[in-house]
Amino acid sequence: MPRYCRFTVFGKHRWGLVVDGGIQPVDDSPFDGGVPRPSGEVIPLEAVRLDVPTTATKIVCVGRNYADHAKELGNEVPTEPLIFLKPPSALLPHEGVIRYPVGQSTLVHHEGELAVVIGRTTKNVSEAAALDHVFGYAILNDVTARDLQRKDVQFTRGKGFDTFCPVGPWVDTDFRPVDQRLTVTVNGELRQDGHFAQLIFPIPMLIAWISRVMTLERGDIIATGTPAGVGPLVVGDRVEVTIEGLGTLTNTVDA
Ligand code: MG
Repeated sequence: MPRYCRFTVFGKHRWGLVVDGGIQPVDDSPFDGGVPRPSGEVIPLEAVRLDVPTTATKIVCVGRNYADHAKELGNEVPTEPLIFLKPPSALLPHEGVIRYPVGQSTLVHHEGELAVVIGRTTKNVSEAAALDHVFGYAILNDVTARDLQRKDVQFTRGKGFDTFCPVGPWVDTDFRPVDQRLTVTVNGELRQDGHFAQLIFPIPMLIAWISRVMTLERGDIIATGTPAGVGPLVVGDRVEVTIEGLGTLTNTVDA
């Protein structure tokens, strides 16, 4: 288990452990060394507002990391990882509202992904040692204004709107990606369905490869790519990304 979350109570951000029946607040950030001490108190989940369960200096996204998704958008399967950044200002928690950029885009897509949360400063790490630098895993939706992504040379605008990076509901420090299933539903209808064994570049390779480009700091996020089935979101939609053994990330779309 341990599943760490961040939540707001009386206007203050706190860390907690997700336990049966609710959240057990812990005395410190789980990133700051040692094992945080849980308090005896359990706050019911419905009594808190969950925050994004990490504090990231950057979100490094991997594009076209599932062959069937590369194909559905008419792209070649890459020979090395294709990476781009989303700004931390795009982060949105579980149950947060994705804001449709009305007047700027008319084609916003969901992209359900597995998120790797980095546990410590990582630079030039080997593939063999890469997983020692992982704090845990979360669920991410790489929301994309597809029309702007196609129009611009850079992905910055199409991928970078505020609220375009839902992450949550928690970070699971025991989860081990093997071949779990990832699904995305919109208003209950199945849209995306993939397995992690389909990843073109596996997670240790991605961490090692990215760390040769940029220093990863604790709390940083790597979004590992999306399987086939991406499709449009419209105002009023409810989008759910589910990863077997990890949970469900739910968000709604509004103008
Ligand atoms: Mg993506």
